[in-house]
Amino acid sequence: MGYQIPLFNLNFDEREARAAYDTIKSGWISTGPKNAELEQMFVDMWKVKYAVSMSNCTDALHVCCMVCGFGPGDEVIVPSLTFAASANCIRYVGATPVFADIVGPDHINIDPTDIVRKITPRTKGIVVVHMAGFPAHMDEIMAIARKYNLKVVEDACHGPLSEYKGKKLGTIGDCAAFSFFSNKNISTGEGGMFITNNEEMAQKARLIRSHGMSTMSYQRASGHATAYDITCLGYNFRMDDIRAAIAIEQLKKLPGDLEIRSKVRKQYVDRLGKMEGVVLPFADNTEFVSNYILPVVLLGSNKERRNKIREYIHAAGIQTSVHYPAVHHFSTYKELGAVLPQTDYVTDNEITLPMYAALTEGQINFICDTFEQAVKEIK
Ligand SMILES: *Cc1c(COP(=O)(O)O)cnc(C)c1O
Repeated sequence: MGYQIPLFNLNFDEREARAAYDTIKSGWISTGPKNAELEQMFVDMWKVKYAVSMSNCTDALHVCCMVCGFGPGDEVIVPSLTFAASANCIRYVGATPVFADIVGPDHINIDPTDIVRKITPRTKGIVVVHMAGFPAHMDEIMAIARKYNLKVVEDACHGPLSEYKGKKLGTIGDCAAFSFFSNKNISTGEGGMFITNNEEMAQKARLIRSHGMSTMSYQRASGHATAYDITCLGYNFRMDDIRAAIAIEQLKKLPGDLEIRSKVRKQYVDRLGKMEGVVLPFADNTEFVSNYILPVVLLGSNKERRNKIREYIHAAGIQTSVHYPAVHHFSTYKELGAVLPQTDYVTDNEITLPMYAALTEGQINFICDTFEQAVKEIK
């Protein structure tokens, strides 16, 4: 709050307000027709067989781990340069996260060669995160998964409509999770989506979402069912129709929003791409991507200097962030004793600059001028 140029802004207007209002007026606000419509939009736009809406991405990831059959005694490989939920979901089902390193400052996604190094007879799966919406090395990761018989969960929170070799992120592994948290590309406040091409996983996900109940209340209210059974241990991971109605409007806007974000990124790349002492991760990317955030990494630097540079930029009225404080250093994960040199470097030297469609050319130039000045002045 209070920054002249915030890190992110909500792409909201009358349409989201109207959608929420209309749903409230419709008399049905819990999981119902708006959720069904949103799920169908995901099926159509992602060219995926099944989409099941969820209360948030953390729950969607929990469901992914359940339908993949991860459990006590199993190990699941995950990057540490991510939000904690990518690893927490593995622990919800009693399995153990095993952290793998990232490729390096120029590609801050999980390193397939380190995945192979971390495989043991207990390894059952991999949770892949597509940082900033840029695809991880999926061909290599899927080949490893086939060779060692591992399930692949895609944490695609950063990458709605991002592509990898013509396929949408989230449709390459066994199942995937998306977030509609307020600062994501699709914002509803809270919300999420589970997608898969596997019918059995989709059916299980639907049951887990609502207490393991064999019918939903909307089906009963609309006269399609009268009784229900509890067929497995489920949860309440449902999203209400007010949020689903907002998500539908957000999803309609998304392709246009991402086109503009691509131009914003290009302007950043033109200004900062050849700057000395700085690397823009994924500079060689040619795929269509969501550009969820704009990470930059300082070279030959350290944490103290990075923090000073951030303060300098903040003093100019520009908000920045760090993606991410590495998960393996958090108290609850320390005991695993992961050693991840590339992750350690990037977590200490990364700065996330503002990224959203409404940024003007003048604002981007001001951000780049300020950043360049900071990097030059602070040794
Ligand atoms: C935001 C985020 C999550 C959690 O999403 P919620 O919808 O807030 O639960 C998980 N993983 C990544 C990579 C995220 O960015």
